[in-house]
Amino acid sequence: MALHGVLFLDELPEFERKVLEVLREPLESGRITISRAARRADFPAQFQLIAAMNPCPCGYLGHYNGKCRCTPDQVSRYRGKISGPFLDRIDIQIEVPAVAQDDLLNKNDGETSAALQARVEIARQHQLARQKKANAQLSVTEIDVLCAPDAQGAALLQQAISRLNLSARAYHRVLKVARTIADLAGSENILTSHIAEAVQYRRMDRQG
Ligand SMILES: [Zn+2]
Repeated sequence: MALHGVLFLDELPEFERKVLEVLREPLESGRITISRAARRADFPAQFQLIAAMNPCPCGYLGHYNGKCRCTPDQVSRYRGKISGPFLDRIDIQIEVPAVAQDDLLNKNDGETSAALQARVEIARQHQLARQKKANAQLSVTEIDVLCAPDAQGAALLQQAISRLNLSARAYHRVLKVARTIADLAGSENILTSHIAEAVQYRRMDRQG
């Protein structure tokens, strides 16, 4: 039902692990096979997965109010509900720390949504002109050709792969994200800074 749209899963660890594992197939192939009794049906299932979770069971780990009393064991059991192979398929993982009320009032507005939209549209047109599809849809062979970083960027990525113990799948996904960061910046080449930013987005892998 989320075909060509967004599938948003709030409180991700509250979903049954079985349910999340079933999502791995459509996340990879863009198709889902549903079997009921003797019948099988194959449906298109290309969607953008967005998920949210708390840092710990009580939700206050790292919060400035210091209210969290969760033990390290509770925290790791909570995070362990999300399997490595599932996390592997999430390209952008970011922590959103709580903002103190005073800061919230004093913060300047960031880039406007309209400006951001314009930048995204340009980047997307650029992708369609270059490869007739969005970066997300690139195959492994296409990634090797279209998302090759410079020597310094390649070395940085190599280092990150071994340090964070990233899979081959994550390696290609980092390159696609770096390609997109470069496109948003209007850069023809993938620079080391683009690789560094893409690696930053694998935060949960790093903790896992
Ligand atoms: Zn807690």
